[in-house]
Amino acid sequence: MSGPRKILLLPGDGIGAEVSNQVELVMDWLAKNLGFSYDVKTEDIGGASYDKYGTPLTDEVLNDALESDAILFGAVGGPRWDEVERELRPEAGLLRLRKELDLFANLRPAIVFESLAEASSLKKELISGLNIMIVRELTSGCYFGEPRGIDVMPDGTRRGFDTEVYTETEITRVGKVAFELARKRQRKVHSVEKANVMESGVFWREIMTSLQNEEGQDIELQHMYADNCAMQLVREPKQFDVIVTNNLFGDLLSDCAAMLTGSLGMLPSASLGEIDKDKKRRALYEPVHGSAPDIAGKDIANPIAMLLSLAMMLRYSFAEEKNAMLIESSIKNVLSGGYRTKDISQPGMEIVSTKKMGNLVIQELDKLI
Ligand code: NAD
Repeated sequence: MSGPRKILLLPGDGIGAEVSNQVELVMDWLAKNLGFSYDVKTEDIGGASYDKYGTPLTDEVLNDALESDAILFGAVGGPRWDEVERELRPEAGLLRLRKELDLFANLRPAIVFESLAEASSLKKELISGLNIMIVRELTSGCYFGEPRGIDVMPDGTRRGFDTEVYTETEITRVGKVAFELARKRQRKVHSVEKANVMESGVFWREIMTSLQNEEGQDIELQHMYADNCAMQLVREPKQFDVIVTNNLFGDLLSDCAAMLTGSLGMLPSASLGEIDKDKKRRALYEPVHGSAPDIAGKDIANPIAMLLSLAMMLRYSFAEEKNAMLIESSIKNVLSGGYRTKDISQPGMEIVSTKKMGNLVIQELDKLI
């Protein structure tokens, strides 16, 4: 990729803006010290956009998103917009962005920082050194399938229904992302469905098996039922490397895996689209947490999930593995130095503000280069 990278920064609402500020400081540091060349454009999304323009995502911002090399997204939403109609709610802006960019692969790493291992609800030996990548299909399945609705049956009683549907193309493309990721890791993929009770699960298994036969001979592929996967995640999580699954199971399993690692404030994510003819892949990076209205504006939010999302952007959009690792190591060092934001506080540790946490990460970056 030549020339400065075009990054669209969408801080959003609540703590989105506070954690995005810390990311901007780290990007400035990367530019100053390591020559990371980028053009960053900051725009409104979610409630902030609704308040100014009457819509959670303007066409201009959508165009900027389509033209950018990568998007960094904070969080949207809050009680202030609870009464707004559903299509104009802050969350609708994010959903439209994901849909228009066709961001079908949601990557949710669950990585345990050694100094936080005690904070997990599982025993330390079970999660120490844990590093799982969950790939959730994000744009299809029963959250989007038709028909869906609530209607009245001939006998006068009502019913609610959704449709779980996956095409061969949709399974293949997310399966390929899982294989690609596994190649840079331990080459192990668990494909998760419910082939024992669902036709779509039988089909998912068949397509994943063909994909492995055709282009994944170097990958160890195992099929697992979703209920067993949930159980295995809390029984012996280190057996997993990459897990690939549909939208619904991915929603549940990624939250479960994530919480093995501690707080919401520590969890980054990436949502990736297809690679186009110019070898460019649309991508949006965001913390897993929301806008946390209960702590917004207090300078106490944990910016680490957002900083780790920046590291993911460097790794997956720009192949800047070294710089991604530099940010991750700095965070690791700050945590082992005994500093914590309130959400991950432990006895004997110093509690620091959002801004201070950002500064500490930059100080560590200075030490590491
Ligand atoms: P939330 O993630 O905003 O907050 C849940 C709890 O975790 C809160 O107690 C919060 O204080 C805490 N928390 C979250 N992030 C933190 C951080 N970085 N540091 C310290 N503590 C943190 O979820 P919620 O309360 O269910 O939702 C609040 C709003 O955010 C809602 O409007 C919801 O729709 C929206 N939301 C947006 C996204 C998104 O933008 N991707 C995701 C989830 C929720």
